[in-house]
Amino acid sequence: MGLLTIGEFSRASRLSPKALRLYDDLGLLPPARVDPVTGYRFYDPAQLERAQVVAWLRRLEMPLARIRAVCALEPEAAAGEVHAFWATVEAETAARRDLAAGVIDHLAGAAGRDARERLEIRYAVHTDEGLVRTGNQDAAHAGDGLLAVADGFGNRGGPASSAVIDSLRPVAADARTPSGHLLNLLHDAVLAADEAVGAIGDGGSTLTALVWDGRDLALVHIGDSRAYVLRDGELFQVTHDHTYVQALVDDGRLEPAEAWAHPHRVLLLRALDGRSTPVPDLRLHRARPGDRWLLCSDGLSAVLPADVVHRTAAAAADPDAAVAALTAEVLAAGAPDNVSCVVADVAGAAA
Ligand code: MN
Repeated sequence: MGLLTIGEFSRASRLSPKALRLYDDLGLLPPARVDPVTGYRFYDPAQLERAQVVAWLRRLEMPLARIRAVCALEPEAAAGEVHAFWATVEAETAARRDLAAGVIDHLAGAAGRDARERLEIRYAVHTDEGLVRTGNQDAAHAGDGLLAVADGFGNRGGPASSAVIDSLRPVAADARTPSGHLLNLLHDAVLAADEAVGAIGDGGSTLTALVWDGRDLALVHIGDSRAYVLRDGELFQVTHDHTYVQALVDDGRLEPAEAWAHPHRVLLLRALDGRSTPVPDLRLHRARPGDRWLLCSDGLSAVLPADVVHRTAAAAADPDAAVAALTAEVLAAGAPDNVSCVVADVAGAAA
């Protein structure tokens, strides 16, 4: 079969001539031949397969640069890349769904808000120097509507992590704030936290925290501390590490199994260091009775395999027992770093 004109190829591939010219410019789908005199583009029928894949990925709203990367991969690696892209989209959608619910409550006013009963949470917290480090640069807090873990680094990492948690306290104190607005206040508090870290100097901190208003959990996260939720017997990692190694995994350049032992595992891409405007992840999560939340520093998540975290967190009768059991597991594994954890159970309706 001979070459197809751009019009024929457009009809066969269902991609417009305009899109085909763009994809040519981007190197995504170059024509098999371009007439040197007229500049007309001609396509090989064998290129319809790639055109089909490009069209599908555009329907998924994958960015063009990423489509180009997918098209350069072998089929199996390409499938893995699309899978990773879609997992990210689903996680974003889940967070937006909860925020949308918060906005609906806000617009419905007090009536909508009061229609959801206030729930109670029970929590426990522990931070431990571990068995190798001298001194503890982690800070952890549970109480007054605030659950938080911060992992300090640098010479003044200890004061930095404490200052970061202190910066969040005013937000947690105002429990009457509409849930959607809570995220704005948290964002402001993170900017204040970063300023406080800058004033201390010579150090920085991660932050993973939940502000609790009785109905929703507003999450703020920057760095490599983590939040998990144990729901219906499954353990979900809620936060995404802001690390160099995680970025390699996201790009499909490193297998998740290899990330564990990577020499640059501790390299942070985002943190509160007082030197650049922080970019935290902010999300709203609806509280569900029966959920068990876990916040921890990397002294726990980088030491215990996920199945051990899952088993230990699930087996404990209450937050105190969970915190004690998780800390004991880390100590038994050698506790090479400071280790902090907060466990919070969403119980039934408040009295
Ligand atoms: Mn640490």
